[in-house]
Amino acid sequence: MTKLVVLSGKGGTGKTTVSAALATHWRGEVLCVDTDVDAANLHLVLQPTFGPEVPFVGGRMAYCDETRCSGCGRCTALCRFHAIAAGTVRSLSCEGCGLCALACPEQALQMIDHVGGYWSVGTADCGTVLGARLLPGAGNSGKLVSLLKEEATRLAKEQQVRWLLCDGPPGTGCPTMAALAGNDALLAVAEPSASGLHDLCRLLDLAAHFGISAYACINKADLAPAFAAQVSDECMRRRVPLLAKIPYDPEVGACARRGEPVVDRGDSPAAAALATLASRLAEIDL
Ligand code: SF4
Ligand code: SF4
Repeated sequence: MTKLVVLSGKGGTGKTTVSAALATHWRGEVLCVDTDVDAANLHLVLQPTFGPEVPFVGGRMAYCDETRCSGCGRCTALCRFHAIAAGTVRSLSCEGCGLCALACPEQALQMIDHVGGYWSVGTADCGTVLGARLLPGAGNSGKLVSLLKEEATRLAKEQQVRWLLCDGPPGTGCPTMAALAGNDALLAVAEPSASGLHDLCRLLDLAAHFGISAYACINKADLAPAFAAQVSDECMRRRVPLLAKIPYDPEVGACARRGEPVVDRGDSPAAAALATLASRLAEIDL
């Protein structure tokens, strides 16, 4: 099994389009996991039927039994996050440190599990798809990503698939690091622009830090040939194989609006480039 993560260093580069295309191309040989838990959207293209949602306990938070609270205000004075006022907990502010529960003279406060989101396993035309949704304001997205990857790895081994394909989050922060860690290879999706090049460099630095082999492709490469050439030069300088230059193709947007993977439109230029990308990845010993 090869674990491949698709990342972009920034949002809006077409990472999910590429992931969905690869998943569709490798239909029957792949298990997909969408680790963009803050804004998951791979399911909009692959359209899996999801099973029951499993709660994700991201941490703990204070809970007050108001019948025991004397209103002494000790918790309010001690909480450095301003998350509690005389026993009333602001759930979005509580960091779960537990100090108020230790200090409450009436034992009115206790620490309880805080559900920060949900994850589930689904079945799509290409195979099994895992997805999650972090609740607004919930933290520990990296922890949820790690949990999803653990479940995905277990299922992928069970199903003996050739590919474990991870559609990652944008940026280079905690959830991206959690998505990147432990993969065999990274496919970086770059866009031909100054910010695209800048964010690609940050992402490739991160992959080098984790010791993960990196490959790249440029999306909408023909929209800005000069920047595409700069991305290409940077890949060459870093010895990162550039596997595809995907042309701008209005069919990609049309497919996204219809909720279809672009590979299913074999007659479009982007579909052809994505099919070539999938074949090249399959030929490389990642
Ligand atoms: S410390 Fe306990 S008793 Fe005092 S206000 Fe807070 S919850 Fe109520
Ligand atoms: S658990 Fe910590 S952060 Fe939350 S209300 Fe109590 S003292 Fe504040």
